[in-house]
Amino acid sequence: MLIEQFICREDNFGILIHDEKSGYTAAIDAPEGNAIHDMLKQRNWTLQFIFVTHHHHDHIEALAELKQAYNAVIIGPEAERKKITPLDYALQPDENFCFGTYTLTALSTPGHTLGALSYYFPQANLLFAGDTLFSLGCGRLFEGTPLQMLTSLKKLRQLPDETTLYCGHEYTQTNALFALTIDPQNRKLHQRVEEVFSLRAQNAMTLPTTLGQEKETNPFLRWDASILRKNLAMENATDEEVFAEIRKRKDHF
Ligand SMILES: [Zn+2]
Repeated sequence: MLIEQFICREDNFGILIHDEKSGYTAAIDAPEGNAIHDMLKQRNWTLQFIFVTHHHHDHIEALAELKQAYNAVIIGPEAERKKITPLDYALQPDENFCFGTYTLTALSTPGHTLGALSYYFPQANLLFAGDTLFSLGCGRLFEGTPLQMLTSLKKLRQLPDETTLYCGHEYTQTNALFALTIDPQNRKLHQRVEEVFSLRAQNAMTLPTTLGQEKETNPFLRWDASILRKNLAMENATDEEVFAEIRKRKDHF
């Protein structure tokens, strides 16, 4: 699978995936028409599919435009069918779908929105998590509860360490500063923060990363780490309480 990632709008990621065997290309979300057109042209690809992660405006704005230009098939969550226009095919939670020679699973990961999907390609070890999981962060709980988001993140955390993670936004630098406030003893986190600052100083992107790295450094995947619980004075709290506290602190950071 060939992948192109590029910045759209202010801090959204545009992502194109291309299966060389079938020649098919898909976009993950449609944040900005021009940037996506330009990349397709540059690679000499044409667009067959758009996989929508959730209904927020900055992820679907260019759907109609791309549909018109390429007659791409637009695929997204059934639960958000009414909010995503145009949508050609609605996926049920955890439904499988064929993209060229690959099969993806549309993992149901509610929390940021209630219908949010994360697209997982097990054969290629790829995860496109939209605004559910970021590098060193997670999406805000606009619609779901902390328990829903925790359950979604538990699902993603079970995927193999070697999974390559792509997400919806370049938020890593701010996430990094927050992560240090609650996990300051984490040596791997400090290494990642250094890397992130160096990349951003060169105006380079901090994604993709690996799930293995996120499991070690992302506070939103570390609700059960004893050092982090100690820092929060929540040694005996439930996973849900710890996760909710971390999310609340980030909202006020
Ligand atoms: Zn969003």
